[in-house]
Amino acid sequence: MGVQRQGRPDRIVPAWRGYVLLIFGIGTKESLLGVPYYVCETCGQAAAHRLLKHSRRFTLFFIPLIPLGVRYYDTCTYCARTIELSEQQIEAVTRQTNPELR
Ligand SMILES: [Zn+2]
Repeated sequence: MGVQRQGRPDRIVPAWRGYVLLIFGIGTKESLLGVPYYVCETCGQAAAHRLLKHSRRFTLFFIPLIPLGVRYYDTCTYCARTIELSEQQIEAVTRQTNPELR
């Protein structure tokens, strides 16, 4: 007849021993480059457009360390149409609408 031991084990080994806790992820910073006013090709309304820059970075313990890339977006404030722009397109638009941003 076997005796089953119950209760406290001989050694208590914390579950976290030997492991390192890392908190990492990808963070996106959004910055507004300008709000030009022109006719939207989708809705046909003369409306303001938000020019946004999204900078993605690898983060370690919530600290941005490695840049992963930049994307530019143009969003119509009337119909919410959003298109991605290249760096050359965003430079051309900001140069036309805000010459002081050069
Ligand atoms: Zn629109």
